Amino acid sequence: MLTDTEAIVLRQVKTSYGRKMILLFSKRYGKISAGTGIGEKGRSKSSLALRPFTYGRYELFKNKDSYNINAAEVIKSYYKIGEDVDKYMNGAYVLEFTEKALAEEVPAPAVFRLMTEFFDMLETRDKAIGTLVLAYQVKLFRYLGIMPELERCTVCGEEKDAAAFSIKDGGIVCDDCLRNLENSDNDTLIYDAGFGIVNILRYFTVNPLKSIEKLALKEDAGRLLQRLVREYAAHYLDISELKSEKLV
Ligand SMILES: [Zn+2]
Repeated sequence: MLTDTEAIVLRQVKTSYGRKMILLFSKRYGKISAGTGIGEKGRSKSSLALRPFTYGRYELFKNKDSYNINAAEVIKSYYKIGEDVDKYMNGAYVLEFTEKALAEEVPAPAVFRLMTEFFDMLETRDKAIGTLVLAYQVKLFRYLGIMPELERCTVCGEEKDAAAFSIKDGGIVCDDCLRNLENSDNDTLIYDAGFGIVNILRYFTVNPLKSIEKLALKEDAGRLLQRLVREYAAHYLDISELKSEKLV
């Protein structure tokens, strides 16, 4: 069956005999691997659309359980990201993180829109790249249905102020429950609700990515939130030890 879809190139995997596999995040089919015989040599329009950081349109031949890219064209290339080391590393991290978060062949149109929006903003942003990445990740949690509970204590269920954030319980914990948790020596990962991290999480959840255009988290809040987001992703998405992680 011949079909086409917009997609973002997550990764290019070279294979033998002049064919390669491209990992695409497609709008219509979700995350898919597609083989192709389109070569690098000609530097044709099609081959340019096979590079990571490309948002393109892909003509696919869909077999029973495989895809082949017959033709491709660039809609937007975020190649400018490659001219700045910090942006490149963070962009690579977001590609890898999202690749791990997505299930195979499950369309995720909201995540797709979020990702193109992220790259549009990354391209023009000149500072606080880390804040943009964190906002993207928190919104991704929401779209994947694993948004932390930020309104009610995850232990007693009451609407109380957050004293801490518990990874294992999946959200905020009130003062009373925190004391109980601390007395029982379980190994749950708990973060102090200092630096306003719960409010930052709330803000990222409800506002569009565009709204953080001029927002930059302070160094210590950013670092704490980064640790929290990574632990959360490790716990709920089994995402850890990414190749690009150590660089950002
Ligand atoms: Zn409680």
